[in-house]
Amino acid sequence: TVGMLALDRSGSMAVGTSTSGLFMKHAGRVGDSPLAGNGFYVDSQVGGAAATGLGEDMMKRPLCFEIVQAMERGANVQTAVDQTVYPFIEKLGQRNGQVGEFSYVAMDNQGNYAIATNVEFSFAVGNEYLKPTVYVAIPG
Ligand code: ASP
Repeated sequence: TVGMLALDRSGSMAVGTSTSGLFMKHAGRVGDSPLAGNGFYVDSQVGGAAATGLGEDMMKRPLCFEIVQAMERGANVQTAVDQTVYPFIEKLGQRNGQVGEFSYVAMDNQGNYAIATNVEFSFAVGNEYLKPTVYVAIPG
């Protein structure tokens, strides 16, 4: 899945996801990526989030919505992703023994961004001064 968050000069935000789903998926499988709240969520007055990973696990909670809610309650973007994503990964691990890949990118309405991931995860950042630059986030 490719997820994208954008913030324009007027303060308007957008989020999008594009996915092929999972390799060898069942015909008709939807996955998390097209589901608001699960695969993506944005509120221009707060911020947004987008996800990639194992939809079957990620759909068990609308984490993108919850990340934005945490920001709305006052958490900064890094705290919002950390406190939303990692406890859920831990809970799933305790319950199921294993957890699929989870990667979340979030951005607040000032352009501050953060990642939470349990796998090595590449992402790119660009703005009017910085041409798109690729970074690698590491788990935890
Ligand atoms: N999240 C997608 C899905 O489960 C797959 C992916 O992110 O690669 O459909």
